[in-house]
Amino acid sequence: MGISRILIANRGEIALRIHRAAHEMGIETVAVHSTADADAMHVRLADHAVCIGPPSATDSYLNVAAIISAAEIAHADAIHPGYGFLSENAQFAEIVEAHGITWIGPKPEHIRTMGDKVEAKRTAGALGLPLVPGSDGAVSDFEEARRIADETGYPVIIKAASGGGGRGMKVCESPDQLETLMRQAGNEAKAAFGDATVYIEKYLGNPRHIEFQVFGDGRGNAIHLGERDCSLQRRHQKVLEEAPSPVISEEERARMGGICAKAMADMGYRGAGTIEFLWENGEFYFIEMNTRLQVEHPVTEMITGIDLVREQIRVADGKDLSCSQEDIHFHGHAIECRINAEDPYNFAPSPGQVTAYHAAGGMHVRVDSGLYAGYRIPPYYDSMIAKLIVYGSTRERCIMRLRRALEEMVVEGVKTSLPLHRELLQQPDVLSGDYSIKWLEDYLRERPS
Ligand code: ADP
Repeated sequence: MGISRILIANRGEIALRIHRAAHEMGIETVAVHSTADADAMHVRLADHAVCIGPPSATDSYLNVAAIISAAEIAHADAIHPGYGFLSENAQFAEIVEAHGITWIGPKPEHIRTMGDKVEAKRTAGALGLPLVPGSDGAVSDFEEARRIADETGYPVIIKAASGGGGRGMKVCESPDQLETLMRQAGNEAKAAFGDATVYIEKYLGNPRHIEFQVFGDGRGNAIHLGERDCSLQRRHQKVLEEAPSPVISEEERARMGGICAKAMADMGYRGAGTIEFLWENGEFYFIEMNTRLQVEHPVTEMITGIDLVREQIRVADGKDLSCSQEDIHFHGHAIECRINAEDPYNFAPSPGQVTAYHAAGGMHVRVDSGLYAGYRIPPYYDSMIAKLIVYGSTRERCIMRLRRALEEMVVEGVKTSLPLHRELLQQPDVLSGDYSIKWLEDYLRERPS
């Protein structure tokens, strides 16, 4: 039969992104929305719309019962979770499948394994991915912790097994701080995630964040689509991403990508995934795997020509991937700017009514956004309102085009990160690609205001 109607369990630009892929495949869409999103673009464009609750995400976009009911009422035969919200909730995936609805995502057991960082690291190691040196799993004993830290060398980082979003981490500089920081990390992890389990890793001083896009058919075939460099971050939130990474050679891409694809094939991984690494002095160190589509997936689409959402839907529908590794060719360069409704320098959220909106256009310019003039950005959700993605045949041409596109973009009525992006695209280190995960915070600290 095949998928004929997809419920999109998300909002904003990613809900639109999924709607577009579905319609291009002749598949109908069902939008779900909170009362705060009744006028949102994803609701306007979808074939059907169901209100699933009040503004608070807990009562709407995270409300499993309401979403399943909406799927049944609207006769959806598949659910795409987007990113965030329920996308990495293994139990939700199981509930969807138990209702006879196709889950457009990885197998629940793989979501569960990769969602536990200790388990994820163990699995990654067993699959042959290079790890950050450190404990072999959870650590509860201080003597053991001291022994591990002595072996790897200080500083070390204490991380929560259930951590996420950059939270639940403590950097420890010397043996005398270890016991106190471990206790603190455990208590904070317990309070934030309900799980006090921590583990220890060597703290890398100045790495880049480089991640590989992988894709599996769930039957032992998997490919990689190269890497993305997401080192420009603030508080572990990505601000600008590019593909390919300025520091990875073609040989290195093929070697490391091959290792990632083989790991996914061996696992029987299904759907889109991202394997995240820290990279320092030419070495990769696995940190985590995301079992979902990423915000920054368009840069990969721009340089490979592959529609990742279309592949997700195909694979969920039991079809083969539309391409093999030999069919994947990397062309040129792509950069994405995340545009948030926030103060560009102190990052305070800036929700409210958009009085004027003009999206950049022209050759090789893509804007993924649910914005329109008159739209009221609700204060309840993530502040990202648009992604500007630009392609160029070389990195230099991509940067020139991105500067031009940033000049054209207009969002009035709220503060946005556009001025920060315009400024970043003038910085010599950004132009030369010479930055690490520390660069942006250092820049913001030293920037004359
Ligand atoms: P989360 O799931 O909370 O995002 P990650 O394990 O992905 O946690 O780490 C988030 C960020 O923390 C990384 O992008 C990096 O900036 C920093 N980090 C994590 N592990 C290390 C490490 N071993 N050394 C240095 N920085 C690290």
